[in-house]
Amino acid sequence: MENFDYGLSLEELKKRTNKDYLTDKKMLTEDSKEYQNLDENDKIALKHLVKAAYILETINERLDNRKNLPFKNWLNEKIKENDERAILTKILYDAQKGMCAIDTETNKINLEKNTFELKGKGFYPEDLGVSEFHLILIKMLNENKIDEVRKILNQRSVIERKDDELIAIDYIDYFKKDFELMADELIKASKISTNPDFNEFLKLQADALLKADPMLDAYADKQWAELQDTPLEFTITRENYHDEMTETVVENSELKALLDKFNITPISKDALGGRVGIVNKKGTEALLEIKNYLPKLASLMPFNNEYEQNINPNGSGETKQTMVDVDLVAITGDVGEFRGGITLAENLPNNDKLSLTIGGGRRNVYHRQIRVADPIKLQKRLDNVLDKSQHQFYLDEADHWFTIGHENAHSLGPNKGTENLGKYTSIIEENKADMASLAFVDDLYKMGYYKEEQRVQIIVTFVCDCFLKSKPTLSQAHRVRTVMQNYFLLKEGAYNLTPDNKIHVNIEKVVPAAYKMLEKIIKVQMQGSYSEAEKYVQENFIWTDEMEIIANKLKEVNKTLNGRVISTLAEKLLAE
Ligand SMILES: [Zn+2]
Repeated sequence: MENFDYGLSLEELKKRTNKDYLTDKKMLTEDSKEYQNLDENDKIALKHLVKAAYILETINERLDNRKNLPFKNWLNEKIKENDERAILTKILYDAQKGMCAIDTETNKINLEKNTFELKGKGFYPEDLGVSEFHLILIKMLNENKIDEVRKILNQRSVIERKDDELIAIDYIDYFKKDFELMADELIKASKISTNPDFNEFLKLQADALLKADPMLDAYADKQWAELQDTPLEFTITRENYHDEMTETVVENSELKALLDKFNITPISKDALGGRVGIVNKKGTEALLEIKNYLPKLASLMPFNNEYEQNINPNGSGETKQTMVDVDLVAITGDVGEFRGGITLAENLPNNDKLSLTIGGGRRNVYHRQIRVADPIKLQKRLDNVLDKSQHQFYLDEADHWFTIGHENAHSLGPNKGTENLGKYTSIIEENKADMASLAFVDDLYKMGYYKEEQRVQIIVTFVCDCFLKSKPTLSQAHRVRTVMQNYFLLKEGAYNLTPDNKIHVNIEKVVPAAYKMLEKIIKVQMQGSYSEAEKYVQENFIWTDEMEIIANKLKEVNKTLNGRVISTLAEKLLAE
């Protein structure tokens, strides 16, 4: 067995696994009414779906870092010897679902002494650097190996060395055994769950796991995106936010010119996650209300007559977007790893997926168990950072309303060409979703979707939540955009700090500022130029004194560094 060494001292491990520093997100339990009320057949289906999701977790551990699984085995051996450092390291490994992660204060957490996060994660050979990567691709293209390069630069391949070149192996072939086991669980679930549409999706998804053909994924995704009234939720999440290697190719002008010549669009590699849950009917009804307003919002997007959107602004045809609020049983792999946080919702498939080219829509899934916040901690935070006169406008629930706007806004704006923005693609896309959600608060109020108090609650809550505990690194897309927005709002006078250093929101200035920023974002997305994107991000990714002051006050009241999901029901089902 490979030998490893601990990355964190016993003292550090004890601190980070202490309940003051490690936050728990609790998934459904066996005695929850949501589970108890399920049809007996759906309960059996749920068990198979949970098993499938955990197989996917193992696959994602390998994609995340090639040393993850050997390290986990080594830890398990040490745990047998009752080694305290192993026991505590394993808690953090399971929480962040891998050896390397980042905590809520942007500190790098490397659980093994000599293992660090690589740009190419586990997707690329560990010893492959950016410049060698570019040289090899240029050589291959000059030798007319067009298809080979196309396969290297797509979402779904693991890259290995072969002689002095690189070779791409489709995920499905690379993890053949694991995907076969997963498909088997999905088929079993499809034979017993009570909903025929859901069962059809499971069968299509199983097909896609058995043969390396992206079109099979497209059929499965298309069916998945139409699911609205099903008792159960199951998703394979595929998002390409982690791969920092593929996106570098647009930074090399010689390589970029060759890729353009051969019509190759580089797309970063997908991390994989499994989500299993029970659809919450009441929560879902509340979500669906926004659907009627989406064409109108598409027509309010800046420069909307100059590009195509996923939502038709004329309102003609059906809006291909379903939405569900889900009580989570398990989130595994990419979607469940706590690395500075866990996502509140997802709008999938993303624009790089084939299903959108065959008439498929999108589906938004909201994570109920992730948005549960501790009211005592919240009050402490407000007391420390928000102007007392505005406490009345801060509402936790408003963050959920904002998130609904955010997820839907991913379906607005230019729906192609943005991958040319390289490492800025995700930052700008997230920035767009936030600013559109905020920019349309007044319009949605005028149209009757929000009430007057909701309008103010969303605005104040948003601005207050724009403050982070620490300056993020450029690879944290979601956080970088938060800093950019904060800076822009400050510049536009949308908030100021009071003499005693509390945030005071200038309510009427927030929405106009958001629209102004949205215009800049859409321009950058339409231009599709890496250098313009870089300029835009650099102009706004500025950590100000105001942010530093509030960051320190946030750290005083919020000690959380790491977090994890506690999946009691899932673990019980796994053992059956
Ligand atoms: Zn988003």
